[in-house]
Amino acid sequence: MPELFIGGRWTAAVDGHVREIRCPADGTLVATVDEGGPKDSAAAVAAARDAFDRGPWPGTPAADRGRLLIRVADLLERDKDAFARAESLDTGKRLVESEYDLDDIANCFRYFGSLAASGGTDRAVDTGDPAVDSRVVHEPVGVCSLITPWNYPLLQTAWKVAPALAAGNTFVLKPSELTPHTAIGLMRLLAEAGLPDGAANLVLGTGPGAGAPLTTDERVDMVSFTGGLATGRHIMAAAAPTVKKIALELGGKNPNIVFADAEFDTAVDYALMAVFLHAGQVCSAGARLLVQEKLHDAFVDELVARARRIRLGGPFDEQARSGPLISAAHREKVEAYVAAGLDEGAVLRCGGRRPDDPALGDGFYYLPTVLDDCTPGMSVVRDESFGPVLTVERFRSEDEAVALANDTFYGLTGGVWTQDSGLAQRVASRLRAGTVWINDFHPYVPQAEWGGMKQSGVGRELGPAGLAEYQEAKHIWRNTAPRPQRWFE
Ligand code: NAD
Repeated sequence: MPELFIGGRWTAAVDGHVREIRCPADGTLVATVDEGGPKDSAAAVAAARDAFDRGPWPGTPAADRGRLLIRVADLLERDKDAFARAESLDTGKRLVESEYDLDDIANCFRYFGSLAASGGTDRAVDTGDPAVDSRVVHEPVGVCSLITPWNYPLLQTAWKVAPALAAGNTFVLKPSELTPHTAIGLMRLLAEAGLPDGAANLVLGTGPGAGAPLTTDERVDMVSFTGGLATGRHIMAAAAPTVKKIALELGGKNPNIVFADAEFDTAVDYALMAVFLHAGQVCSAGARLLVQEKLHDAFVDELVARARRIRLGGPFDEQARSGPLISAAHREKVEAYVAAGLDEGAVLRCGGRRPDDPALGDGFYYLPTVLDDCTPGMSVVRDESFGPVLTVERFRSEDEAVALANDTFYGLTGGVWTQDSGLAQRVASRLRAGTVWINDFHPYVPQAEWGGMKQSGVGRELGPAGLAEYQEAKHIWRNTAPRPQRWFE
């Protein structure tokens, strides 16, 4: 069965191209899928445009749109096992992590379904003139291009698809060319739930081939992108000539700050999880550990001892705690960052190479790596390596911790560990990041906004603001007693 979904029909790529999808854990062939290009993207945009301009979806009552999204959540729960397995085969991530993701994905659809059904934020405006009936209403933006990455393929897709549909938009989705399967599955569920033809369209293919046309086409009203900083800059520029609405969720180089009074065992435990979850391929990863000077030696010794014990393995190895990197090219990029860090004076405390275990030889594994004695100017500290690499810096005072933490062009997340709640609140309020965790790392809920300050992005996903991204506010002014004003006499 062909895998592009355009105007309610499954179709092959116009040029007949296909791509092999291989599991990063062992290189096995998962499937061969259609690989679209500019012509397929143009056809998908045409279908989405037609469905927006003429189709029933934008005019469907918000409560009905919400009910459909809640039905999608039910279907995702029904098919959870198949979706989790597909996600793990494409990404190489542990099955248990994909299962957590599937729960979050269903919750996301349920949340935006409820938000849509709750009636939204339309409001009456008091103009001071009793003859005027003034209202601000919220309408869909139009045709949205949704472009997503490979690290949390369906989760990042859900964060866009659910609010886009809740608001009444139509869309073209372009998932990462490396991880297409759960996006294909989602299209099936949207159709099964009763979404009208053309409201949801799927194009598979590379960024330059299938993605770029979605950012320049004048029939597209909005581009919502999650991915790397360089691609985000490129997309922002590509969308400028047609002045599209833009939402960008980009990278992070997130500080995890540990004060000397932190609860030791828990802080070590979370520092490991913060950076090594999913082999560090997490935008919110706590990849920069900032430890107060007097705790440094004991903390890093214990961290390194535990990091050495992290077992690597494929999606279905129940003993594994971390998996492979997504591709050979990505592993080489991570290796280059570690080599540069060592050249610049970092001290290797563990990892820094591929594992010896021959059973892992066909996958793109890299050992959990800790680099100590790092300084802010090092490229491995500054840039997102997006791998299992933790850099460690020391600080003495609260002010120094905040200054180091904010010494980055990113601003996605940050963590602070201390038993002093006043200190924790002060630091949390001074961090320039879209999410701050106190004595925790990584949790999020669909009710709370997610997004980045500085070069981590533009706009917010999730929460009420995540719905507002996909809406236009319109002011409707009705004069209930119009009379000639004779202003020209
Ligand atoms: P990427 O930028 O390489 O690709 C992301 C998507 O953009 C893919 O679908 C790709 O095909 C497409 N693309 C590439 N070039 C394009 C172009 N010129 N025009 C249109 N589309 C194009 O990112 P990636 O490697 O897939 O994902 C990893 C990055 O994503 C990391 O930087 C990570 O921090 C970021 N990320 C951020 C968040 C967040 O919430 N802020 C969440 C997940 C991932």
